[in-house]
Amino acid sequence: MKKNDEYQALGHQIETTEKAIGVLEEQELEVMYAIDVAKKKFAAAEAELKANISGHEARIKTLKERADNLAAEVKAAQAEVVTARGPVGEPKLRVYDRIASRQQPVIVPIVHTDKCGGCHLKISGDVVSVARGKFDPIAALPTCDQCGRIVYWE
Ligand SMILES: [Zn+2]
Repeated sequence: MKKNDEYQALGHQIETTEKAIGVLEEQELEVMYAIDVAKKKFAAAEAELKANISGHEARIKTLKERADNLAAEVKAAQAEVVTARGPVGEPKLRVYDRIASRQQPVIVPIVHTDKCGGCHLKISGDVVSVARGKFDPIAALPTCDQCGRIVYWE
């Protein structure tokens, strides 16, 4: 009789334990599903970020190419400047460099017969005459009375 009671108690314990295992297995499935969802979200986010990175890398490459091209243009322009300065006398280069250090453009046309193309103020008749070649243009460099830019007759 006592053996039978013990047997029943064990059977009850087995049943309770099996139920607990069932609950745990269900929880395990839920966790596995959550991991799966998280993995999919991660993959999508990773793909988007990779696309962004390649976009940025392509832009960096384009900008680097542009920087290289511009550096080459600057080098070519500097060489042209050296070539252009060659035949110009030192006094005229000094005048040019002095003006260039404070305003651009340095050399401007005379507009409306007696106005500086840079500051638009009136230029004296002497300067206009020099610009028109009535005096020795080699000796005298015509400059605006107001802003000091070199002027020329068009
Ligand atoms: Zn001027």
